[in-house]
Amino acid sequence: MHPTYDVVALGELLIDLTPSGHSQQKHPLYEQNTGGAPANVLACLSALGRKSALICKVGDDFFGTALHQSLVRAGIDSSGLVWSKKEHTTLAFVHLGQQGERSFTFYRQPGADQLLNEDEIDESLIHKARLFHVGTLSLTGQPSRAATFKAIEAAQKVGLPISCDINYREPLWPSSGEAKEMMERLLESVSILKVSEEELFLLTGLTDADAGSRILFNRFPLQLILITRGAQGSDARTRQTHATHPAFNVKSVDTTGAGDAFMGAILDQLLATGQNLDSLEQTTLQQWLAFANAAGALVTERYGAFDEMPAREAIERCLKTNNVIR
Ligand code: ADP
Repeated sequence: MHPTYDVVALGELLIDLTPSGHSQQKHPLYEQNTGGAPANVLACLSALGRKSALICKVGDDFFGTALHQSLVRAGIDSSGLVWSKKEHTTLAFVHLGQQGERSFTFYRQPGADQLLNEDEIDESLIHKARLFHVGTLSLTGQPSRAATFKAIEAAQKVGLPISCDINYREPLWPSSGEAKEMMERLLESVSILKVSEEELFLLTGLTDADAGSRILFNRFPLQLILITRGAQGSDARTRQTHATHPAFNVKSVDTTGAGDAFMGAILDQLLATGQNLDSLEQTTLQQWLAFANAAGALVTERYGAFDEMPAREAIERCLKTNNVIR
């Protein structure tokens, strides 16, 4: 059977409230944006012409309806979206620093995304995919934790590669120990892992890419580890080789979604080559990093992320400039 979707993801679909200037009375204004890391990854894949579906839960409210419409507009299959009558759609207020770096305040005590149940997972979507992607926000508590592991099992049963962006949001976890425990359980099933340096530290106690990756490769059946460092670029490692690539020099105004664009772009490259991850050459890895860094950089040039994912042509133009941060 030919797969219907390139990627099926499970995870949070929420509203990002991004700072948007001030009112005449000098009160801060916030813009309503579609957010959630797995949703952003799929939006990037859609912008690159890839087919995807999202398994998620939103509140049966005004924001949930807006999020549903966003998926439809982006061409992401929304048949795996579940409505909660009980809890509202999760909100995340984004705070932007001087360089566009961001932090979050979540309104999720709990939010609808956390209430995704095991029996609400449409496994037939997963069976129709080439790859399954998850983050870790769905692991912060029950019942979405059990739902996530059930979906992982379904993906494994049909032999799908599983990718994961750790995307650690400390305030959402009961403790960092519990976060680590759940992430480790997840990593037993993951072949493609994306982390930041802080997340590498959480998982291994080390920030050094080489030593940290070695620990992860020894403990888990990972095949590809990606480490992103914002304006310092990124790094990729397989068991055989590694590559690194600087970031592109752009006028960043909002770094929200840079990592998601990066992740989506890496998955696009992987799907394009269909190559076995264990036999990837250094030059291929480097090309993937360049492509993904360009995608990440371009999304920081605009406010928001989900609706601002770059098209393939824009990424290719950016690559041609070779205007990297040295
Ligand atoms: P995350 O959002 O997961 O923390 P990063 O912020 O590291 O991920 O961003 C992912 C990639 O996007 C980086 O490796 C880099 O290539 C690109 N990127 C992020 N921020 C910038 C920036 N300010 N300027 C240029 N490129 C950036």
